Amino acid sequence: MTIHGHWIANKRHEARETLPVLNPSDGNEVARIGRGTASEIDTAIRAAQAALDGAWGRMSATERGRLLSRLSALILRDAERLAQLESLDVGKPIRQARADAAACARYFEFYGGAADKMHGETIPYAEGMSVMTFWEPHGITAHIIPWNYPMQMLGRSVGGALAMGNATVLKPAEDASLSSLAIAELAAEAGFPPGVVNVVTGLGEEAGAALTAHPGIAHISFTGSPEVGTLVQTAAAQRTIPVTLELGGKSPQIVFADADLETANATVLNAIIQNAGQTCSAGSRVLVEDRIFDNFVADLAGRFQKLEAGPAERDLDLGPVINPQQQKRVEHFLSLAGQDGLSLAGQGRIASNAPEGGYYVRPTLVADVDANHALAQDEIFGPVLTAIRFRSEEQALAIANGTQYGLVAGVWTNDLGRAMRLSRGIKVGQVFVNNYGAGGGVELPFGGVKRSGHGREKGFAALAGFGALKTIAIRHG
Ligand code: NAD
Repeated sequence: MTIHGHWIANKRHEARETLPVLNPSDGNEVARIGRGTASEIDTAIRAAQAALDGAWGRMSATERGRLLSRLSALILRDAERLAQLESLDVGKPIRQARADAAACARYFEFYGGAADKMHGETIPYAEGMSVMTFWEPHGITAHIIPWNYPMQMLGRSVGGALAMGNATVLKPAEDASLSSLAIAELAAEAGFPPGVVNVVTGLGEEAGAALTAHPGIAHISFTGSPEVGTLVQTAAAQRTIPVTLELGGKSPQIVFADADLETANATVLNAIIQNAGQTCSAGSRVLVEDRIFDNFVADLAGRFQKLEAGPAERDLDLGPVINPQQQKRVEHFLSLAGQDGLSLAGQGRIASNAPEGGYYVRPTLVADVDANHALAQDEIFGPVLTAIRFRSEEQALAIANGTQYGLVAGVWTNDLGRAMRLSRGIKVGQVFVNNYGAGGGVELPFGGVKRSGHGREKGFAALAGFGALKTIAIRHG
């Protein structure tokens, strides 16, 4: 069985203790990864500091950009290998893993091009003075990512940090670390100096907590659950360092009678079943105008009935969910729907030959859910869609804003005024009108408000988060 060590200073770092890597499609152990502790985190931080004190700290922004572009090309060269690895580790249907590899390469391509385009400015201030600003890196940035889109999360988070000249230490999720280790190795091949990209694998409460508590880090970028996000922010507060938190959502898709209902229906389905619903920006609530509710939901239910979940390599509509805890979580919400007499309007099936040990759940549409019910309020993080009825624009807005989350929203209408009123009124970080492009858009600033977190990733907005702006004011007479 392969044992994957940590990746520190461009070398494999032997794992003293290990954790199993389970294939979600059948529950079998396929490899082992290192169970890092404060000791490995400290070694990684020292390597990162040495990089900042050495060639990396002196490298021009243009040269950093070239390295990022080279890494992008290597990810594309190895895209199929990376996709196979991700599909095995996360249980993703292979076509979704291929899309993730392409998106990861695209992040490095974008940030490669952006690295030398974060310019300071001169500020007219006072007679006899010149004032200018410079973007500087924070120093060592910590990156803690979840298991749902490891390659995309790595590209999104580490790509921006490297573009700004930081040295990085990444702690991937214990359930899905293989692609992070593989991409870190490609970063060495691309020519990043030792210590610029480090990966320490392990448990959140061990390696993750040790990373957030380490005095050597200057910024934390975290994606995951609100509960852990609070712990991370508390750790950062102890040393007053900045954090970017991306903590999921309960994103509404609001469908009005005047919309292109065929496109809306197909898109609403895809936005909840992609990655078996384990997507922070999954459109997990569909709010439908009363007069089309029954027909729209019947159409959607028909689509759910045709869905099939099965092993990743069969490339069906859905793979398994990531682990038994996540499977139980989804089953808990479905049993809650049963207990409260909610209508399971449409349900897909689990492929008849799906392995016994895999973590499969049935994709489910629950109709006519009260907006305050747990199914309409909590992030299930599985392929469960709740349909909610509304009668007016005002009511739709109130329901859309009526959860603790605020990440993404979709608005389906051909009334431009209504589209704009809702887009401005919904408290989220991104709104899509007549489309729902949550997963894509490397260029588009992304992030939440309320319990979905704060700070922005993607696009140039992320670069502002990964840099510190310095003002220099010179009195020269
Ligand atoms: P999690 O928050 O527990 O884990 C995310 C990352 O944080 C992992 O790398 C984990 O090892 C690390 N971590 C855990 N405890 C830590 C600690 N004390 N200090 C530092 N790092 C720590 O999320 P999960 O267990 O992977 O999933 C649980 C729930 O989180 C899901 O059901 C879902 O609601 C949510 N989630 C959201 C996203 C998202 O993209 N927003 C992604 C995955 C999970």
